[in-house]
Amino acid sequence: MENRAPAILVLDFDGTIALTDVGNEICERFAPPSWTAINERYLNGELALNEAQHQMWSLVRANAKEVSKLLETVILRPGLERLLARATTHGVPVIVASGGFRWYVERLLRPWLSQIDSIYANELVFLPHRLIQPTFPHLSRLSCHRCAICKAKLLARLRKQYSSVSTMIFVGDGASDYCAAQSADTLYVVCGSSLHMHAQQLGLSHIAFESFDSVVVA
Ligand SMILES: [Mg+2]
Ligand SMILES: [Zn+2]
Repeated sequence: MENRAPAILVLDFDGTIALTDVGNEICERFAPPSWTAINERYLNGELALNEAQHQMWSLVRANAKEVSKLLETVILRPGLERLLARATTHGVPVIVASGGFRWYVERLLRPWLSQIDSIYANELVFLPHRLIQPTFPHLSRLSCHRCAICKAKLLARLRKQYSSVSTMIFVGDGASDYCAAQSADTLYVVCGSSLHMHAQQLGLSHIAFESFDSVVVA
């Protein structure tokens, strides 16, 4: 099925929509400090993100109620509501592409879910004894050597799905966005983020931003 739209807006979640990395915050609060060494190995490129996440989450002990409580402290980036309203006005589909987890992405975006066309994310399953299991439903179709959800592969899929779209706008901040950064038509990077430095190092055309009010969709 062909969908007509002038542009498509793809937003990262952790560090982009949410000012912090919510997955890391959960680990920080509910896992022993050794989780950070595993995260470092992902950031150095020694571990794929899903391997790192399996190891990190095996250290976490929390139930859904405890994690829900932590979500109350998460702050979303200013301008989100207005950005989604502009996208709706201009008929621009909004896709949330997260290397994090649907469980918290959907809870934090609940007021705006009707304005979001789809969410790609990994899954968290809460088990007895305060154990949490991450699962990676997109591994077989959308992964690369580094990402469980490779956002470059996702952009390629979206280009087919929305074949009349002329501009693929990607907005992100971190290592899980590196693959997509090279295939977006317009790249917005959170000012001072690792994606900002990555774009500068690679000489990729980009726009650094802080508020979503600076993100132009049409
Ligand atoms: Mg991010
Ligand atoms: Zn990738």
